[in-house]
Amino acid sequence: MSAWHADLAWLGPERGMAERVLVEVEGERIAAVTEGADPPAGATRLPGVTIPGLANGHSHAFHRALRGRTHRGRGDFWSWRELMYQVAGALDPDRYLELATATYAEMALAGITAVGEFHYLHHDPAGRPYADPNQMGEALIEAAGRAGIRLTLIDTCYLRAGLDGQPLAGAQVRFGDGDAGAWAERAGALRDRPGVRVAAGVHSVRAVDPAAMATVAAWAADRQAPLHLHLSEQRAENQACLAATGRTPAALAESAGVLGPRTTAVHATHLTDQDVALLGATGTAACICPTTERDLADGVGPARALADAGSPLCLGSDSHAVIDLFEEARAVELDERLATGRRGHHQPAGLLAAATGAGMAALGWDAGRLAPGQLADLVTLDLRSVRLAGTRPADAVDHLVFAATAADVSSVVVAGRQVVRDGRHLLVPDVAAALDRSIGALLELAR
Ligand SMILES: [Zn+2]
Repeated sequence: MSAWHADLAWLGPERGMAERVLVEVEGERIAAVTEGADPPAGATRLPGVTIPGLANGHSHAFHRALRGRTHRGRGDFWSWRELMYQVAGALDPDRYLELATATYAEMALAGITAVGEFHYLHHDPAGRPYADPNQMGEALIEAAGRAGIRLTLIDTCYLRAGLDGQPLAGAQVRFGDGDAGAWAERAGALRDRPGVRVAAGVHSVRAVDPAAMATVAAWAADRQAPLHLHLSEQRAENQACLAATGRTPAALAESAGVLGPRTTAVHATHLTDQDVALLGATGTAACICPTTERDLADGVGPARALADAGSPLCLGSDSHAVIDLFEEARAVELDERLATGRRGHHQPAGLLAAATGAGMAALGWDAGRLAPGQLADLVTLDLRSVRLAGTRPADAVDHLVFAATAADVSSVVVAGRQVVRDGRHLLVPDVAAALDRSIGALLELAR
């Protein structure tokens, strides 16, 4: 049993901000939450404001090596993808372990307690399986353990280069398992374990044909596992899908049995009204990744309309142009303001719920709320920072969502275990040095 005493804690959209909150933890879960409590002897004080752990719903860990190197100049998603493939080609299990450990440690420092890794770098650069065909996935599992955060490994099926059925070529050959049956067999060898959940991914309607999508959906249904897919990030994908199948990507995914309450559509940027209705009616979540979507000039998706239709919203840092879920959260509102010329589409509490509880649900974790029975993930922000100075309980949620940054996170507890204290990672002593080292090694090889 451990006890944590927060000056201020956010108890969710309904109960709001509470003062002097005692959180009692048994094992990895919250046993009791008491407002207006005095700290008992032995309790760890959490000065500032405490929120549930942040969930990063969509990550490609290796994209962290691209930060600062792909933003200048012209081009679009497709030209950026060429640069991304160069880095992908240089990764092996050891280098991926180093890079992902450092990247996940950066996430921990930012208050992220669980990450959904959309993983498709399955095989060696020539497309041959490693001695253990899941060696790359196991490297990611090991990395999350070293960084002290939980991982939902979204093992992603990726079978073809495009809707015209072209086979994988060049940098893509390591993504493929040949067919969906082989994907299911390989992914089926991965096991859930403490802090690790294995989930299924359909890379996109470009990369997976409808029959194969149905196989992946059935695999996920068998295990009651989350199922994620990239959906309509690009107009070109919609056009190619309509031309090849007569359906939008959302309608095609629905026809293959992919949509539903365990499913998360990542991006969901370029949707028709019918697509929005379909995603909402099936309870499919939408993972919005605004800092990546703006970096890649993808566009601004209909987040408000999706939420109104019934799709829970969650957030991802995706390409890790930055790793800061406060920035992602406010961008959902601010981007929609720019797109519509109006304010007030999303309330701050709703955005904080997207960053916490809704994201955890999309990743298959009982976490993201400060309530008994939930995994004990506690993230504390220091209100003495220049960004948050002046915060008062009545407007603390608004202040966090519109002004906090990852740098304001002072303490992080993951499933009852403290991973960050006083802004320092307790397991990875120098996260910046680890990032610099692992990225430097990779860039040497990718040249
Ligand atoms: Zn992605």
